[in-house]
Amino acid sequence: MQYFSTNRRSAPVAFREAVLTGQPDDRGLFFPSEIPRLSSEFFSELSDLSNDEIAFRVMRPYVAGDIPDDNLQEICRETVDFDFPLVPVDDRIFALELFHGPTLAFKDVGARFMSRCLRHFSRGYSRKTLVIVATSGDTGGAVASGFHNVEGIDVVILFPKGKVSRVQELQLTTFGGNVITLEIRGSFDECQAIAKRALADEDLRKKTFLTSANSINVARWLPQQTYYFFAMKQWSGPPPIFAVPSGNFGNIAAGMLAERSGLKTGGFIAACNSNDVVPRYLESGNYSPKPSIETLSNAMDVGDPSNFVRILEIFSGDLNAVKERLTAVSISDERTRATMESVFAEHGYVLDPHGAVGYAALRDRLAAEPDSAGIFLETAHPVKFDSVGEILGNNVVIPESVEALESKPRYCTEVGADYEEVRSIIQDLI
Ligand SMILES: *Cc1c(COP(=O)(O)O)cnc(C)c1O
Repeated sequence: MQYFSTNRRSAPVAFREAVLTGQPDDRGLFFPSEIPRLSSEFFSELSDLSNDEIAFRVMRPYVAGDIPDDNLQEICRETVDFDFPLVPVDDRIFALELFHGPTLAFKDVGARFMSRCLRHFSRGYSRKTLVIVATSGDTGGAVASGFHNVEGIDVVILFPKGKVSRVQELQLTTFGGNVITLEIRGSFDECQAIAKRALADEDLRKKTFLTSANSINVARWLPQQTYYFFAMKQWSGPPPIFAVPSGNFGNIAAGMLAERSGLKTGGFIAACNSNDVVPRYLESGNYSPKPSIETLSNAMDVGDPSNFVRILEIFSGDLNAVKERLTAVSISDERTRATMESVFAEHGYVLDPHGAVGYAALRDRLAAEPDSAGIFLETAHPVKFDSVGEILGNNVVIPESVEALESKPRYCTEVGADYEEVRSIIQDLI
């Protein structure tokens, strides 16, 4: 499979190049040159297939030519070796729980798949591969866990001191080994600026393979398609509407790609918080990015969603065709909070703030469509967000994996928001 740039100035590359470089030189995003169609046999036997077999069959055309089948099978097995249950919340609304992985968030799948692709591609090179990533919470934990103990690769994670939740901080700071966690005295934007500078540092680039692990990398983006197949494997009845809590729009773009490959759905709802660039765009036709606003569902606080362009690309740039399959809504913090409270009171189900945005969006839609049913993606475990305890009291069951982190040693270095300081730490790794 070849990948072209959505800006169309850089030349197309193979999957390997797309993963190793992350982004084309022209600052577009990589996009597959054709969207594979899955066979009707695949869909008729879907409910009997194992998750790793589904992942293998979905991903195979995208990596064809660059990773042999045996290796891809192993990568898929390691990537999806946890549960993706579809849980009824009421008679027409189901939660696809994507939080049963090692860091309790859906980003585990993309991070694990990407780390194993990089391991495959870096074998046989003496130069070290260095992954640098700035995080405001979930990404860093998933990347740390996904790359921990993956041979040949070191990971440097930058997070803003005091600005991630208690559980996120535990997940970021308890790995050690090849995971180097830097607690920056600064904001997330400063962390990101430092990461960007490091990635562009010519001197570092000469000595190592430097790459980011952000969500625009195709090895993080594409495997998210599997969630939608895992959901349909557990579904009976007319195709469901999918409500996807969206920030950078990677997850929902993957779902819409899966639909283009033949998966039957009742359409998609992009469930956004007050960062409403896409809902406004679909309504007015004007795309106007804005600085992000802080909300309860902070992993979706994005003012210029990077992956939206991939949704346009799936429909060859035809906005009206996009609108036939996609609606987008904005849900306020007030509504998010009220939704968490009422769903807990009525159904005993604990929503995290991101899932709550998805639930509220789906519920509004179903109210207007009495014969439809739908699935919202529960993108993270409620225990990851300190606000859940404040809103719902002590009703969150703490998973064992979190309790185990409390007693682990802390591996973390505090540094100022200063590129030279960070650079000298990176330099020592090479
Ligand atoms: C990253 C994240 C999202 C947003 O996903 P996108 O692919 O960026 O749209 C939603 N919920 C949680 C919990 C996340 O960590």
